[in-house]
Amino acid sequence: MDDQKTGFYIASGRIIDPFSRRDEIADLYVFEGRVVNPAELPPDVRWTRIEARGLVVAPGLIDMHVHLREPGETRKETIRTGTMAAAAGGITTVVAMPNTLPPADNPDTITWIGKKAEKEALVRVYPTGCITEGRRGEKLSPFQSLVQAGAIALSDDGNCVQNSRIMYLAMEYASVLDVPILDHCEDTTLSDGGVMNEGYWSTLLGLPGWPSIAEELMVSRDILLCEKTQARIHLQHLTTEGSVRLLREAKKRGLPISAEVCPHHLALTDSSLRNYDTRFKVNPPLRGQRDREALIEAVVDGTIEVIASDHAPHTQFEKEVEFDKAPFGVVGLETLLSVCLQELYFSKKMDLLDLFSRLTLGPSRVLGLPQPSLSYGSVADLILLDLEEEWKVDSSQFLSKGKNTPFEGLTFKGKVVLTMVDGQIAWQREERNLVVK
Ligand SMILES: [Zn+2]
Repeated sequence: MDDQKTGFYIASGRIIDPFSRRDEIADLYVFEGRVVNPAELPPDVRWTRIEARGLVVAPGLIDMHVHLREPGETRKETIRTGTMAAAAGGITTVVAMPNTLPPADNPDTITWIGKKAEKEALVRVYPTGCITEGRRGEKLSPFQSLVQAGAIALSDDGNCVQNSRIMYLAMEYASVLDVPILDHCEDTTLSDGGVMNEGYWSTLLGLPGWPSIAEELMVSRDILLCEKTQARIHLQHLTTEGSVRLLREAKKRGLPISAEVCPHHLALTDSSLRNYDTRFKVNPPLRGQRDREALIEAVVDGTIEVIASDHAPHTQFEKEVEFDKAPFGVVGLETLLSVCLQELYFSKKMDLLDLFSRLTLGPSRVLGLPQPSLSYGSVADLILLDLEEEWKVDSSQFLSKGKNTPFEGLTFKGKVVLTMVDGQIAWQREERNLVVK
């Protein structure tokens, strides 16, 4: 047996580290799960060289809005396939939403997800627990036992707690436990039956509308409840200009509030629905051009500090029905970074340090996780990215079971070529031959 210790020597990459604001060409050494100082390399280590010349080396992404579908809906996705897709997309940490079957409204389900992930996941998985039992919005889940079992946050995502008293109590308890609430904002008395943004296109297409005000009313309510309870509130998948304005004002007043935006809302508008293509059916829906611009502006100036995929896989069978009947949701793990690069970096709106900040530091701060970094001593969750590589989205090549992407057939620039989790290669494009033995 050869028991010589091994480490990785990542040679001549462009280091992009938002935490230390570092953007420079340098070597990086990884040993026993951590980034190590080249001046203090441990002796007797065999270094495996990874050729990174011409590539970006950055911290792995944290995607804090992912539907892994397990337990219960493994025909759509599993912890295994979902985390394979994450690794291929450069995501080293995912936060799993609790709308599984059964829902994660009890400590046993949270524990089960944790154990299953330990065995099968390629990246880090943090489960969340439901705000209310069965996500029905009527009775609070046992927050303390959910958190003790490993829930990193609470959410009824997919549903929004309609009863203001229940939401108020939820925030009071969450603030005592100091755990964030991930808030899907939708007043269903206004959105019920809606399948797309209410506006010009819904009128033209004759489809029932899900109006902006249904989101904005709940954003307003929860800002007020946040002010009252001082709970940590994170607004999920914001879509409207009005929501951005409300958030901006709330932040000015110093509330403990944060927000995320999804790549599809940054890249697409409701005009994409003109052919009744169910791949563009998502909740909350694609909005208008002004909304899209307001979201981009908010993510650029940091009002929105997180970009998350809201990866929501469905089977082809379910999506290939009439528009009204198709389920909401798009897959996003394998396109997250490329879409962000297109909309924010190649469009010259953000530099790489700021863009990676929204995908690493932003979510880590909201969740209270250790800050991702490439500085010495940091956990070696990192990616190698080829900014120049052009690739065409072909969902048949996705590692996710879900093929319901709104970006099918589009060409993007920038592709992840290697992903490392905890100092080990979790995924790589073998044909690139980056690892020199
Ligand atoms: Zn949602």
